[in-house]
Amino acid sequence: MNSEWGSIYKDLGLQPIINATGSVTALGGSVVAKEVKEAMDMSNDVYIPMADLEKKVGDEIANILGVPAAYITSGAGSALTLAAAAFMAGKDDKKIQQLPNTEGMPNKILIQKRQRYWYDRCMEFSGGQLVEIGNEDGTTKDDLINSIDDETACVHYPVYEQAEIDKNILSLEEVIEIAHSKNKPVSVDAAGQIYPLENFGKYVKMGADFQCIAAKYMGAPHSTGIALGTKDVIDSISRHSFVGYESRRIRGIGRPHKIDRQEIIGVYTAVQRWMSMNHEERLSLEETKTLNIINQIQSIDGIEVKIIDNIIGHQPFGLSLNIDSNKFKTNNHDFVETLKNSNPPIWTRVPDGEETIIIHVFGMNVEQSNIVGKIIKEKLEGLKK
Ligand SMILES: *Cc1c(COP(=O)(O)O)cnc(C)c1O
Repeated sequence: MNSEWGSIYKDLGLQPIINATGSVTALGGSVVAKEVKEAMDMSNDVYIPMADLEKKVGDEIANILGVPAAYITSGAGSALTLAAAAFMAGKDDKKIQQLPNTEGMPNKILIQKRQRYWYDRCMEFSGGQLVEIGNEDGTTKDDLINSIDDETACVHYPVYEQAEIDKNILSLEEVIEIAHSKNKPVSVDAAGQIYPLENFGKYVKMGADFQCIAAKYMGAPHSTGIALGTKDVIDSISRHSFVGYESRRIRGIGRPHKIDRQEIIGVYTAVQRWMSMNHEERLSLEETKTLNIINQIQSIDGIEVKIIDNIIGHQPFGLSLNIDSNKFKTNNHDFVETLKNSNPPIWTRVPDGEETIIIHVFGMNVEQSNIVGKIIKEKLEGLKK
């Protein structure tokens, strides 16, 4: 077999790329860690009742994280859909089979206006409906108190601890207190909150009824995720899932969210690996890759290069690159295209709502970080005014 880099794709006539964007779904999300791959291979040629496997692995992961219960899903997005279904229909088999028709069920998923985000749509695939509370300026306690009624299924809250605290919105503590005082559950999207380790599962420990984790961020297959929550919510999620559909013969909406037994074993192995690995080493490697790029380009006149020193969450370090178009025949957006057209192609981006190029090293190895630095330098030198 041809062992040249990317040959499995090149043989198909496709062009593989260097990922300088980070863990993004559009480029494949993640690399499965070696020990995870090995455990997955070992589970491949053996059959197992999926309901038993889901239950056992969920219990083990819950134990490791110190939360009441856990369930493996086909991505954090799937966990969000199943949780929304669980908050609307609970364990009522008739209602489970009625979804996504929500007649007779509470179906409003409340979210603070300023917290709207790319993946909140996943909550609605259950048949529920997002309802914004507050406005662009913020959300008050009264806004939330007055919005909760019989039709409320849950209050949804995305957390992003890397970012500055938004003082105009309600904190998760406030949302939990208010929602629970009205007997309504709280759902948290904490997909990337896996480091520092005390953050992994923290929101359920704070009192949220459910949180998701994207296992793509920790060396598990890109297609997997984890639901964490109370025993009641996780039991309910299991009934809405593809396992419930096939094992219990109850036709819930979770049927298309199927995962393989290999993937369940993969997530279990990835969680064990993540909780026991040397994170100092992991962070130091990410810093090295970042510096490999920075050191090659920082002396170029007319660009601004800044290290991102964040270590919280799933994607540590990285850099921002800002090109002065008075000094170069290019600008940040055009240069992203230039890099995509280089050999090998390098994919990076100016993220939505930002001005500068943001490079993350999550998806590249050390050798590739050197190549990225070298190519950026060559291209910029060729584009000098
Ligand atoms: C990646 C991500 C998701 C979706 O996770 P998948 O596992 O890709 O379905 C949801 N929320 C946030 C915050 C994410 O970063």
